[in-house]
Amino acid sequence: MTKAKARSKSVKKKINRVVLKISGEGFGKPGGFGLDGDALKRIAEEIISVTKLGAQVAVVVGGGNFLRGASVATQLGIQEASAHYMGMLATVINALALQDRLEAMGQQTRVQSSISITSACETFIRRRCIRHLEKGRVVILAAGTGRPYVTTDTAAALASVEIGADLLIKATNVDGVYTADPKKDSSAKFLESLSYNEVIDRRLKVMDVSAVDMCQRHGVPIAVFSLLTRGNMRKAVQGRLIGTRIHH
Ligand code: UDP
Repeated sequence: MTKAKARSKSVKKKINRVVLKISGEGFGKPGGFGLDGDALKRIAEEIISVTKLGAQVAVVVGGGNFLRGASVATQLGIQEASAHYMGMLATVINALALQDRLEAMGQQTRVQSSISITSACETFIRRRCIRHLEKGRVVILAAGTGRPYVTTDTAAALASVEIGADLLIKATNVDGVYTADPKKDSSAKFLESLSYNEVIDRRLKVMDVSAVDMCQRHGVPIAVFSLLTRGNMRKAVQGRLIGTRIHH
């Protein structure tokens, strides 16, 4: 048996509650603006494959397929804080699209936003979120932390700690963490397992430092892999080591 096979077979603790962080770019065509129906469907299928196993899923959505606060502020010559609020509102668009796609496929959902938008979705309430999860609903968490100058990575780490997730999955468009960008550098090496400190000290571009630090302090393991490979999420929830694992 190859090392890779042995690794993918190594069954660890089953995951009961998971937070899935999907960046805005995951909702669109690669490098494109806005939403893409096929991408939405693929994400929805992956999520449903996990709820069918009985796992509870909260999804934190990014908004980079529409805009990112810091760059938009410079482009438009507007206040950075305002641009960050615009970025948070962009995540709500992705959340509502994902909600409808999941429901069209028979999966019950709720969207909870950290910025109150009461006619479109619920406002985030921790205990209510947990109750929805216990009832088998996928909870889509929108508007990041509700405060400017941070990103949805930090929101995902915070949510994982707040709702007691067993695993934070960071979905990327490559199969894990590399020493350099494998699309640009052919000598980039795949990193199978990392400590939180290694990610921070080596400045590996996986998640914001604040997000990694939050997970470290509260012992939330992070799995980094691509949702483009079908079945990855199901395997991770079944306890297999998929992609790169960041842990103690
Ligand atoms: N944002 C924010 N506070 C948050 C989360 C997000 O101000 O708690 C803003 C920020 O401007 C960010 C944008 O929303 O650039 C979109 O989020 P993010 O960049 O995390 O999206 P992703 O890169 O995951 O698509």
